[in-house]
Amino acid sequence: MTKLNVTLIPCYKDNYSYIIQSNRTCLIIDACETKPLLDFFEAQQLTPTAILTTHHHWDHVGGNIDLQQKFKIPIYGNKYDKDRIPGLTHEIDIQREEKILIDSIPIHILFAPGHTTQHLLYHFKVANLLFTGDAFFSCGCGRLFEGTYHQLYESVQKIAQLPTNTQIYFGHEYSLKNAEFALSLEPGNLDLKNRRDELLSKSNTPSSPTTLDLELKINPFLRAKYLAKSVENANRQQPQGEFETFVAIRKLRDTF
Ligand SMILES: [Zn+2]
Repeated sequence: MTKLNVTLIPCYKDNYSYIIQSNRTCLIIDACETKPLLDFFEAQQLTPTAILTTHHHWDHVGGNIDLQQKFKIPIYGNKYDKDRIPGLTHEIDIQREEKILIDSIPIHILFAPGHTTQHLLYHFKVANLLFTGDAFFSCGCGRLFEGTYHQLYESVQKIAQLPTNTQIYFGHEYSLKNAEFALSLEPGNLDLKNRRDELLSKSNTPSSPTTLDLELKINPFLRAKYLAKSVENANRQQPQGEFETFVAIRKLRDTF
């Protein structure tokens, strides 16, 4: 297994950028904000080799232009976001390219629309690491901004199919609120209670990464098939099947 070292860089109020290092490369996943990233590279005496962007939202691309100008580095992102991702130089065509190679590290691309229509996930299969931007969080998933509920559901299903020991690095620290919401649906879920208690006791520590194994036990968006009754109790209306339950959970979370 290839050794990749991941460093989490907190940005703005609750965003995370990530730095992935091997002995030959140094990648940024979502250059959210210039200063914390520049401070890191200066302190470590490092130079980044590329930026990989998950989606176009301002809080995920805020450092793109400054870092590109300073380090003259390429920026990867979805081809169809070329007018929305500042400084995009490598347009990923998801229809044709399911894998890119940077400094001989293969990075698989998963198309995960819903939060935005062109959202990408970066999967480093060689080290079991997945970077989900705003498509998926611990105990949660991205709010629907541009896509359809069906796309969001399919995107979450794609993540559910990955190896259970996949380490998932997400784009915002929403875990505690997400866990409180999940508990409102599943008050008897012991894994979830433990997770909430752990998050409460380490409230100043980033909760990323999580693992798929844990999320399958606690994340209501992966557990819709078990939650029809809880949704019925909350909404006084019984959802028909897993997809409808998923949609109802997303709507309940939007107003939690
Ligand atoms: Zn976003």
